[in-house]
Amino acid sequence: MTDIVHVLSDQVANQIAAGEVIQRPASAIKELVENAVDAGATSVKVIIKDAGKTLLQVIDNGCGMSKSDARMCLERHATSKIYKTEDLFNIRTMGFRGEALASIAAIAHVEIKTKRQEDDLGTQVNIEGGEIVGDQACGCNDGTSISVKNLFFNVPARRNFLKSDPVETKHIIDEFQRVALAYPNIAFSLFNNENEVFHLMKSSFRQRVVGVFGRKYNQKLVPVEESAQVVGISGFVGKPEFAKKTRGEQFFFVNKRFIKNGYLHHAIQNAFQDLISRENIPSYFIFLELDPQGIDINIHPTKTEVKFENDRAIYAILLAAVKKALGEHNIAPLLDFEREPAFDVPPLGKGESVEIPEVRIDPSYNPFDQSSGGTGNGMNSKPSTENWEELYRPAAEDKRESENLESDLNQTQFELEADLDEQANPPSKPIQIHRRYIISQIKSGLIVIDQQNASERLHYERYLNALKNSKVSVQKSLFSKTVELSPGDFGLVMEMKDEFDALGFEIREFGKSTVIIEGVPADSTDKDAEALLERMLELYKNNISDLKIEKHDNLARSLAKSLCIKPGRILSVEEMTAMIDELFACSMPYYTPNGNPTITTLTIDELNTKFGK
Ligand code: ADP
Ligand code: MG
Repeated sequence: MTDIVHVLSDQVANQIAAGEVIQRPASAIKELVENAVDAGATSVKVIIKDAGKTLLQVIDNGCGMSKSDARMCLERHATSKIYKTEDLFNIRTMGFRGEALASIAAIAHVEIKTKRQEDDLGTQVNIEGGEIVGDQACGCNDGTSISVKNLFFNVPARRNFLKSDPVETKHIIDEFQRVALAYPNIAFSLFNNENEVFHLMKSSFRQRVVGVFGRKYNQKLVPVEESAQVVGISGFVGKPEFAKKTRGEQFFFVNKRFIKNGYLHHAIQNAFQDLISRENIPSYFIFLELDPQGIDINIHPTKTEVKFENDRAIYAILLAAVKKALGEHNIAPLLDFEREPAFDVPPLGKGESVEIPEVRIDPSYNPFDQSSGGTGNGMNSKPSTENWEELYRPAAEDKRESENLESDLNQTQFELEADLDEQANPPSKPIQIHRRYIISQIKSGLIVIDQQNASERLHYERYLNALKNSKVSVQKSLFSKTVELSPGDFGLVMEMKDEFDALGFEIREFGKSTVIIEGVPADSTDKDAEALLERMLELYKNNISDLKIEKHDNLARSLAKSLCIKPGRILSVEEMTAMIDELFACSMPYYTPNGNPTITTLTIDELNTKFGK
């Protein structure tokens, strides 16, 4: 037998590493843009074609590389950023593992053009699947341009598992936004299939947030500022009234590195506790500055998770800082959204005053006297069982009156029976209760339908069919509505235009980041066209990252959620009947697309049991 253990070739090792570091085009963009930032660039340009599947390129004006560095940087564990273990605890750069370029080069066709300011000529290196296939002097600008073509060309499994172009583009935009937000002092631009999606000049952080998310954000931001010894905090939280139901605009940067952290997220959620309804999530853009000694960013290859030494202290300081910010900016508690109407106290009109409730005391009451109805210990005001009977004994005891009572009862009984007779075979008309449930008789008992859930299911199937057959009824608007979107959202809307058309939107591109809505799906109204589009985008984006469901399904779900009938809407008998009919014609009538029940039944047997029969 020969020995079988051997060391993997660099080629294979790099491909394996690539699997961890580069999951999709967006990961490559993240690594390349971070390298540009680490190289001290003041301007970074990102170019993508076909969601990065055909091309992704990052051009910077940073320090550039020498001829030998340009070759060396492609080696595994090649980095200029750390030398020794101790350096790991003092990291100020985005990268340090020396894996990114080697990984990308192992699974794509890469071209590097780079030149340092002090050199007359630059260097061009070409690599295909980890092999250097070209290396020559070239004329180029100061800085570095790295283009990556045919990503995953030699890893078909990866390539086949990539999502649709809009989804992958969305991931790229997410990564781009994170770095762009972290470095407002660097100019960034992003070109997607030749369209300039972002054009961000060097600016203040507030301007950067506005540049990334759209002009409307300017009035939504509340500054947060705190400097403590453990942590310095700066940035913004969104005003409570703009909190959304879906995740998306939550950003923590630790020493300018975007991170995800559920614990700190909770601190902010906590600070907003009484200001927003429970299912809403506040937006935030928060920088935490810490001594690098107190954090460990080495726990995940993509470095989006970090460990803090002082996480409890940081939690407390962040919570206090956000509370203070909200207080200082006079963000008064908003009214509760979903309050029981019975608890609503109407405001007092002019000249009205509050009536003080009167307290009546029975001076003859002696809690220690058994016969006066007390329990004997004077502590418990609840009368004993005997006394209950005493209290509720019918006031009139004489015979005549009790006879009358009996005949009253008989009368009622008779009427009820007659009523039941009449309804023995009723035409089953549904009724609505509490403006949210529909009750309808069925052979074996009755069904209760949740109007929102049911409506969501049938809208969902309707839109899914429309997307499949590319036809849905459009409601042409009389007035067109111009909507300014954030560059990211604009890109998404344009990429999804065919689908939006199929769903009944008529949307036209109108200059940079602006669209005109000329028609909306027939179930909606003109006046909420803009809100509808925004809600769709929000839900759609949320689903991309969380559920990873397919495009059509995802769109149909989003639109169904937005346009389904909500609780509170009064329905006519005709509407309810139509709804029930359409529901039972659905391919899956019993659940919403998210798996919540639409219908529950109560059988006659169950009712009988409840009444002891
Ligand atoms: P890391 O960033 O962890 O050091 P990378 O594989 O991303 O590892 O990069 C390897 C090295 O290549 C970097 O340390 C840096 O010296 C050099 N490098 C990469 N990209 C650039 C760039 N855009 N400009 C200048 N140098 C770069
Ligand atoms: Mg790097």
